[in-house]
Amino acid sequence: MPEGDVVHRTAKRLDQALAGRVLTRTDLRWPSLATVDLRGRRVLEVVSAGKHLLTRIEGTDDAAPVTLHSHLKMEGSWHIHRTGEPWGARGRRREEHGVRAVLENHEWTAVGHLLAMLDLVPTAEECTLVGHLGPDLLGADWDPAMAERNLRSRPERPIGDALLDQTLLAGVGTFYMAEALFVRGVWPWTPVGDVPDLPGLLDVLHKMLKLNAERVPQTTTGDTRPGRSQWVHGRSGRPCRRCGTRILVEPIGTAPRDRVAFYCPRCQPRTGTADRTGTAGMGSARVRRR
Ligand SMILES: [Zn+2]
Repeated sequence: MPEGDVVHRTAKRLDQALAGRVLTRTDLRWPSLATVDLRGRRVLEVVSAGKHLLTRIEGTDDAAPVTLHSHLKMEGSWHIHRTGEPWGARGRRREEHGVRAVLENHEWTAVGHLLAMLDLVPTAEECTLVGHLGPDLLGADWDPAMAERNLRSRPERPIGDALLDQTLLAGVGTFYMAEALFVRGVWPWTPVGDVPDLPGLLDVLHKMLKLNAERVPQTTTGDTRPGRSQWVHGRSGRPCRRCGTRILVEPIGTAPRDRVAFYCPRCQPRTGTADRTGTAGMGSARVRRR
């Protein structure tokens, strides 16, 4: 799933192609938006908020400024093509039936594939879409103190689960959760209140996302070579890069929203009285148990 850094980069690319230019064609293939036509209106900017993408479009004499909101979830993506050139020109032709949105100006065409959400709201009401988000790790107004307060509001909650809660802080998915907890040596089921240095953990997360928002390919180890770019995520059953112990993966969180946490049982020792409560009976084919 794309995390905050990927969404941030996508917003930047869309902004470069669309901002300041007048839309010459819009095609929103979404039941509630099928009749929307934004031709003739200028795109003001494209920004990310956590894992949400917001395309802000100017108003007209008789219509308020609007925001097109999209979310990539598991499979969504935005691609940019030169207007008039075939969308599949750069390699493999993408399936036309996966197209959910087309925003075109004289120079560039932005095509949204398999988007998980598409909404159009007056810009003044954006908060109805993203107002529930906690401080954005990649936002200009990133507020680590507020993120820490939000996390501490439920001190008994497993830290790995709390970090994925976008209402507490926005931008972290299972990848950065696992990688940052490994770097800090924190067992993912440690209660928030028992994490030794919460500001330090938030600092690592912030640095990881920030670095990767500016650069491709994504890496948390500093090594961009294939197969060496991450510590634990996606590496279950393989040896820990630090100690050689087999990496494990187990469900974390409460069904039906449970996700998985990869970790090294030696570098991230279980601490305190914590237990993996709430994870029983939620096996998944992807999950390997000890
Ligand atoms: Zn280890």
